[in-house]
Amino acid sequence: MKVAFIGLGHMGAPMSRNILAAGHDLVVHDLRRDTADGLVTDGATWARSPREAAAGREAVITMLPGPPAVEQVLLGAAGLLAGMPAGSVWIDMSTSTPAVADRVRAEAGPRGVAVLDAPVSGMAAGARDGTLQIFAGGDVATFAAARPLLAAMGDPERIVHVGPHGAGYTVKLMINLLWFAHLTASAEVLTIGTRAGVDLGTLRRCLLASPAASHFLDRDVLSVLEHGDYDEGFALALACKDLGLAVDLARVTGVPAPVSAAVEQIYRQARARYGDAGGEMLPVKLLEDLTGSPLRLPVAHHHDPPPAGP
Ligand code: NAD
Repeated sequence: MKVAFIGLGHMGAPMSRNILAAGHDLVVHDLRRDTADGLVTDGATWARSPREAAAGREAVITMLPGPPAVEQVLLGAAGLLAGMPAGSVWIDMSTSTPAVADRVRAEAGPRGVAVLDAPVSGMAAGARDGTLQIFAGGDVATFAAARPLLAAMGDPERIVHVGPHGAGYTVKLMINLLWFAHLTASAEVLTIGTRAGVDLGTLRRCLLASPAASHFLDRDVLSVLEHGDYDEGFALALACKDLGLAVDLARVTGVPAPVSAAVEQIYRQARARYGDAGGEMLPVKLLEDLTGSPLRLPVAHHHDPPPAGP
């Protein structure tokens, strides 16, 4: 298949590499030319603009930071849409919102360009291993046609059509919102419990054996507890973007969401303190620093698998 891929960051670079490895003909573009160096060496073609990247392509994939970048890349004279031929499909795998995609769709429809939102879970490691979970929103025929391409990047068992246009974005935002809520709540629980005198390993084991257990406490938190690693593979700036979009969705749907709003504020505090590029688990460190109580386990105590975030 003739494919273009725009946005070669933490996720896009390994995802596009898997597309190349699956035998597709690949054109790439990013704001930063150096992100494509390895891909071009391995057979991809560099394009100087989104419009140039889209020319003659059957499918165009974007993996961009968020709605403003998606809008910038798609619309305008040098945008993707200006170059996409009739019969092609735009697959947006960014964590974004239906609002921008709706604007694009209004222009894409009359030109015969199909649109699919297909954001992902699984972190940079899942992107590298081709095991991403993919949540697709759009019409069923477009999804079916795009499935083989998605299978080059994701786990075939976990590539799911979740509903009409925008449903993929919504599912992804809700996953991240709940994971960030798990993280902030778990940090508080572990800090309160240990400051009250309970051993951290004992407290975690009891929580895991109780109805309050979670995937976060079982696996993801170990990155911090065992290694002091706050996961720079997913930046705080992007986490704050996702939380902002999730809280916006609560507003648009008229749902009171005080817990989500508090989680967003905690993330914004962590971003203000540790910077845009800091890791997504730094809200744990915020509490560790505030209370002077680091949450650390001796590594030898258990043999759990490595963490996997949202
Ligand atoms: P990133 O910041 O590492 O990469 C984004 C890339 O897009 C960069 O290379 C940047 O130069 C490029 N870019 C930005 N604006 C552009 C423009 N106007 N034109 C061309 N290129 C442009 O981000 P990432 O971590 O790869 O995340 C990408 C998307 O995937 C985000 O929406 C994020 O929320 C989502 N996501 C990330 C992870 C993760 O673990 N990193 C996991 C799941 C989903």
